[in-house]
Amino acid sequence: MEFPEINPIAKKWRKGLKRVALVYPNRYVGGIANIGLQHIYAEINSLDNYICERFYWDVFSGTKSVESGTPLKEFDIALFSLQYEEDYFKAIKIIKESEFTGLKVAGGPCVMENPLPLVELFDYFYFGEVDGDVTNLIKACEKGEETEYLVKAERIGGEKVKVRKADLSTHLQTQIVGSGAYGECYLLEVGRGCKRACSFCIVRQIYSPCRWRDVKLLLEIAEGAKKFVDKVALVAPSVTDHPKAKELIASLIDMGFLVSPSSVRADTLDEELVELLSRGGLESLTIAPEAGSERMRRLLRKGISEEDVLNAASLAAKHGIEKVKMYFMVGLPGESHEDVRAIVELVDRVKKLVPRVSVSINPLVPKPHTPLQWEPFGGIDDVKAGMKALKEKIRFLKKELGRKGASVSAESAESFAIQTILSRGNKEVGRAIAENNFRLRDFYAYLGRIEEDEDLPWDFIDHGYSKSRLLKEYERLKSLIS
Ligand code: SF4
Repeated sequence: MEFPEINPIAKKWRKGLKRVALVYPNRYVGGIANIGLQHIYAEINSLDNYICERFYWDVFSGTKSVESGTPLKEFDIALFSLQYEEDYFKAIKIIKESEFTGLKVAGGPCVMENPLPLVELFDYFYFGEVDGDVTNLIKACEKGEETEYLVKAERIGGEKVKVRKADLSTHLQTQIVGSGAYGECYLLEVGRGCKRACSFCIVRQIYSPCRWRDVKLLLEIAEGAKKFVDKVALVAPSVTDHPKAKELIASLIDMGFLVSPSSVRADTLDEELVELLSRGGLESLTIAPEAGSERMRRLLRKGISEEDVLNAASLAAKHGIEKVKMYFMVGLPGESHEDVRAIVELVDRVKKLVPRVSVSINPLVPKPHTPLQWEPFGGIDDVKAGMKALKEKIRFLKKELGRKGASVSAESAESFAIQTILSRGNKEVGRAIAENNFRLRDFYAYLGRIEEDEDLPWDFIDHGYSKSRLLKEYERLKSLIS
């Protein structure tokens, strides 16, 4: 299969090389735009005795490599990168259909969140940011050993495991360029972690502390990328929080690049930044108020006011950015009909400022490691009633936002309920998936309220936060839920 990508790292297999498969059980566009995967690939292929090839769900159904079409079952080790809980279904399918019998290692944010549903399906789990540590991981696996961050499946859930934090003083230089989520571009990872404290967000917890890369280093990497691309994507949980975001974007534009940030916060946008983003080729501004009412935004600790949102939209319009995409969540604890209606009102105000508005509505997943982890899915204790209410809210929003002229996309309540179950689940959940026997109604118990004094399956993962502080944060939030 011909693949339209520039791959300066690809290696040819020869006798004696050990084969390592890098499996992304989701679509190519997401996988190629993931700098973590690019790191792993480059690091393994730089080793003399190893070759790494990639597998994506939508290329040969994940059972043959992109580079050479070699079947997965011919590889010695398979590293699975699990970015989303729903990918468990695809990962299991890939393992089964490929008849892979080598060593299976799972890593990525889902492992850092809660790997318990996967313990009967993988041999090893890696906790943390693997860039710079891939060689140790591979060598330990081969010897049947563990490292501080690489743990055998049978020992998961016992003693505490510390999560590795990578050193950001260097940056990946040689990358594969394919047609990914940001288009054909070079990825510049400007930072990791986030300095904000949104109460629903797992990123700020599992990638803490917030770290930024030096502008000089990023510009050097961009200089080297000039011969391959005319576009760079700036990647971080909150790109425009970089202390020198404007300087970086302005310099990249001066070098002749189009610039695409992976995320911007509405409250960081001012005239100068929006003008720069527009000059950098941004055609659509994505902002995430998450809630329509000030009360719900306080609960989510989003730190974005209605004024910030309207200011961002009017600056976008002024600088020729004609489309605004807005993200909202529903099913929040204590959410009233007025709070849901406030989403429609806010979108309506934005719609009066910019020609095109698209809205994405997602139910809240009370993620492990966040202060909302004890809350029930759907926002109320009676889970069935919560599911019903969620569906009604989504229906209402689709209808009302459509009337206001916004285009609306909304995931089903069921798919987010499944995400919640997988993120909170244990072996029993994983077994049902492996046996092709997973039914949402069998696992409703995982969607309910969690008692605050309960030991949680993911308590063994040490992200560096203290559970008692998380509980205090939750207590403060509870005063807003009524
Ligand atoms: S700004 Fe974004 S990444 Fe940062 S804590 Fe909030 S939701 Fe998470």
